[in-house]
Amino acid sequence: MKALDIKGLQKTYAGGVQALKGIELEVEQGDFFALLGPNGAGKSTTIGIICSLVNKSSGAISVFGHDSVKQEVEAKTCIGLVPQEFNFNQFETLYQIVVNQAGYYGVPRSLAKVRAEKYLKQLELWDKRNARARELSGGMKRRLMIARALMHEPKMLILDEPTAGVDIEVRRSMWAFLKKINEQGITIILTTHYLEEAEMLCRNIAIIDKGIIVENTSMKALLATL
Ligand code: ADP
Ligand code: ADP
Repeated sequence: MKALDIKGLQKTYAGGVQALKGIELEVEQGDFFALLGPNGAGKSTTIGIICSLVNKSSGAISVFGHDSVKQEVEAKTCIGLVPQEFNFNQFETLYQIVVNQAGYYGVPRSLAKVRAEKYLKQLELWDKRNARARELSGGMKRRLMIARALMHEPKMLILDEPTAGVDIEVRRSMWAFLKKINEQGITIILTTHYLEEAEMLCRNIAIIDKGIIVENTSMKALLATL
């Protein structure tokens, strides 16, 4: 069973923009996978559809064997999403944000508290747990979104441009963290328009341009052609 299996995915937005023109993509369990492409290529649309946040026009998606439409809840439970925009309540504390997130997935409150401590510590945010999210630096907000995405312990983490606007030191520590959890077994997919990021982290890569996958190979094979 694949972690992700996308067949013939098309998306035309109301207004007529053809964002995806028939995407085929397979990601193995345990992979660290990059979706690389320039702005406007269709990366966020692809991720939005995988996570059932955006409706597809046609095609099929399976997440760990669960059809993203017919078994939407099961498919969504497999995924932890780290979106590009900060979409948490800026007036809540970090602790509230992560504990409440676990609640949305039905994680019992006592377990949510244990995980909040675990993941806020792993992302070096535990000392800030009672701060309101708006008081955080950009790099801390990015790390908060990763901690939040892990609270229901998904099989797969999807990150949309995770290090956009993050300075090099925070970027390196985020990379190290992602590598570590991937080695522990979680499948990771990230989008980036930044080849170095894909190169540092990923085993396999797909390049998307104008709504089409133009390359889908191992990172090693891609680097050999450059
Ligand atoms: P990327 O994430 O690679 O930058 P997107 O998936 O955001 O690309 O965008 C792909 C195309 O779809 C672009 O032409 C973009 O302008 C368009 N698009 C994205 N979101 C919408 C929307 N909500 N309505 C209409 N067009 C959109
Ligand atoms: P509840 O009664 O809802 O289970 P608690 O009495 O444990 O919650 O906590 C009350 C408040 O203190 C909550 O807003 C919670 O977010 C916060 N809180 C609980 N434990 C911690 C902790 N270890 N660190 C920071 N804040 C905490």
